[in-house]
Amino acid sequence: MAMTPHELEQFRLERLQDLVAHAYANVELYHRKWRQAGVRPEEIRTLGDIHKLPVVTKDDFRHSFPDGVLSRRCRPSQRYLVGTSGSTGSPVTVFVDFDKVLLDFAVNLPQIMAGCRPITVLSGLRDFLLRRDIRQLFIVVDQSRAYESLQGRVFPQMRHTVVDSLLPAAEHIAALNRKRPVFLMTYPSVLRNICLALRAGGATVHQPELIMVIGEVLDEPLRALVRRTFRSQVMDVYGSTEAGFIAAECPEHCGLHVLTWKVLVELLDDDGKEVAPGHTGRVVITDLFNRATPIIRYSGLGDYACRAVEPCRCGRTLPLLARIEGRSVDSIVRPDGQLVHPYHLTLALEDVPHLAKFQIRQERRDHIRVLLVKDLVPEAANVSFAPDGEVGQVILERFGRILDNQITVELHTVVDIPSRPGSHKHATVLSLAT
Ligand SMILES: [Zn+2]
Repeated sequence: MAMTPHELEQFRLERLQDLVAHAYANVELYHRKWRQAGVRPEEIRTLGDIHKLPVVTKDDFRHSFPDGVLSRRCRPSQRYLVGTSGSTGSPVTVFVDFDKVLLDFAVNLPQIMAGCRPITVLSGLRDFLLRRDIRQLFIVVDQSRAYESLQGRVFPQMRHTVVDSLLPAAEHIAALNRKRPVFLMTYPSVLRNICLALRAGGATVHQPELIMVIGEVLDEPLRALVRRTFRSQVMDVYGSTEAGFIAAECPEHCGLHVLTWKVLVELLDDDGKEVAPGHTGRVVITDLFNRATPIIRYSGLGDYACRAVEPCRCGRTLPLLARIEGRSVDSIVRPDGQLVHPYHLTLALEDVPHLAKFQIRQERRDHIRVLLVKDLVPEAANVSFAPDGEVGQVILERFGRILDNQITVELHTVVDIPSRPGSHKHATVLSLAT
């Protein structure tokens, strides 16, 4: 039973008002920031009033973690922790409540966006989650333990399998053939390596009904490579660790439809004003469901996007993002021809203190330069990333091990990292070697 546009607007406004009142009363970070800005929850009378609230940044979350970002009303048994991986430069950790997690699994993007076979009845969330015919294979980084513990606690019978993205592509292919999933969800960089390994090795692979990719930019060369390798439908999904699914493609592939019933997306210019369709703005999100760490006007995704000027050919009225500039990572090629997935290297930087940004540049097959940018906080003043320092030595030793000492690694501390040409973002792992 679909909502009318008016009912949907009313639903979003009620959720927003409820969330804002909850955050003001129970979450220290929002209470403090909104008092400083002189704004009260009652002032949110329309969806457009959201701009009265100040934007919160990733640094706000990092500095207020854990007590300042956690709702006082959320019991330990109702929540769990998620952290972004270090592949974005500076990790952030938030609390998510179980209702929110259930929602993201129940949203069932394959059916509503890609028209895959119906497998769900949204009226019975738990019924849906406990059905046994949802065979999903997730090849994702570093989340295996979080997913497994969630699976055990929330929906023990759901048949999905999580495989670590850091395993070699041959093991991902073996998992696909063994599990024969209906859906595969993974990162573009992992999918690229799977395609390359299949084409190089001539192996056959199980064809999922749908391949969902998330977490990085899916570019046209990769789409073409996937089309040459798989018969599966491919769906580009925009999401984040902090807020779950945000937007997804329909089969027209004209852009990504915003999932407006669960998230509000603003695209802002440097002055904090919404940009016109066709113009690029910084993504600021509000998650209408998570109450453990409310996400209200959060700019920490660090992505940029622009709205489509034309409506989608599919006829869906959900707003359409024409283009998203998100994370971009390349695999590193060792001199012996072995591909090294970029997250091997980014995860090796995850615990480096006061590392604000980085870029790993493979400039030749046998040479990598790592650009490191320090946090601009007083405590970072004495931190050094020099190659002969304590931190530098640890980084070099880890990279040496991952790259089997076949590539020389140089560390450079820099003030900033240039964006990609024509983009607002920099690649975290960049291979210029051919
Ligand atoms: Zn569409």
